[in-house]
Amino acid sequence: MNRVAVIGTGTMGRGIAQVSALGGYEVVVYDVFEQALANAITLIGASIDQGVARGKIDRETAVAAKARLCITHSLDEAAQADLVIEAVPEDLKLKQDLFARLDAVAPRHTILASNTSSLSINSLAGSTHRGDRFLGLHFFNPAHIMKLVEVITGDDTSAETVAAAAEYVARVGKTAVFCKDTPAFIVNRVARPFYGEALRMLGEGVADVPTIDRLLKSVGFPMGPFELIDLIGCDVNLSVTQSVYDAYFQEPKYRPHPIQRRMVESGRLGRKTGRGFYDYQH
Ligand code: NAD
Repeated sequence: MNRVAVIGTGTMGRGIAQVSALGGYEVVVYDVFEQALANAITLIGASIDQGVARGKIDRETAVAAKARLCITHSLDEAAQADLVIEAVPEDLKLKQDLFARLDAVAPRHTILASNTSSLSINSLAGSTHRGDRFLGLHFFNPAHIMKLVEVITGDDTSAETVAAAAEYVARVGKTAVFCKDTPAFIVNRVARPFYGEALRMLGEGVADVPTIDRLLKSVGFPMGPFELIDLIGCDVNLSVTQSVYDAYFQEPKYRPHPIQRRMVESGRLGRKTGRGFYDYQH
C-alpha cells in the first residue's frame, strides 16, 4: 500500500492523515465542509511543526511528510487510494451512505476502514460489496500521540486485509490490538463506566469537576474524565455513549447522563468550542 485517503478532516481525520504521511504514505484528505478541508493542510502542518519544535520529529522527515499530503474536492478521487480511512461523525446512516458511495467507485483492491468508536463494523460493511476488504481501524485521540489502534474485524474480513492493516499500523508507528466486532470493542467498553460514574458523582453533588479529575489523576490516570471528555468533544462523547447503550439494548451501566445532553444542547462541546467542563477562552 502506498496511497492512503482520509475522509473527514476533523479532530481524528487530521491526526490519522498526519501519522500516515509521517509513516511514508502519500495521503489525500477529503471533507464535505469546504472550510474544514481548506484548513486541513495548515493544521496538520502546524501539528507536524510542533513535533519538530518538541524534538519528536526531525526536520527532514517533517518536510517530506508535508510534501506527501494533499487535499481533494472529489470523493471519487479519494476512493482511488489503496486504503481509505473514514473519520466522519458517529452516525450509522451517514457512514453507511459514505461507504456505499466509496465502494461503488473504488478499485477492487482498495481496503475500506472506519475509525468508528462504537458502531458495528458488520453494519458498516453491509453497505458495501467488499466485506472481505473492510475493517475497523480505531485510533485514539490525539491520534498523532496515542500509540494504540484497535484493528476490528467483521465476519467477512479476510486474513489478507488484516495483514495489510497490521502492516499499515506498524508503519505509522502504532501498536495494533486485534478485536472482534462487539459493541464498543475493547477500550470504549472499558472507558464508558470511567466517564459514566464520574458524571453520576457530579450529578449527585459528591464532588466538583476539578476534584474528581484531580483524584483520578492522583491514582495514575494521565487525564481526569472531564478533561478527557472536553478533549474528545462532549458531542462525540454523548453520541458514542448513546450508541453503546443502544447496542447493549439499554443496559443500565452504559446509560448516558442528563449532564451530557445539557452540555451538548448548550453548545459547551469542550476544547473545540472554547468551553466544556472547563473554560479554554482565558
Ligand atoms: P469531528 O466532528 O471533529 O470531524 C468530523 C469531520 O467529518 C468534519 O470535518 C466534517 O465536516 C466531516 N464530515 C461530515 N460529513 C462528512 C461526509 N459525508 N464526508 C466527508 N466528511 C464529512 O469528529 P471526530 O472527533 O474527528 O470523529 C470522527 C470519527 O472518529 C467518529 O466516528 C468518532 O466516533 C471517531 N473517534 C473520535 C474520537 C475523538 O476523541 N474525537 C476518538 C476515536 C474515534
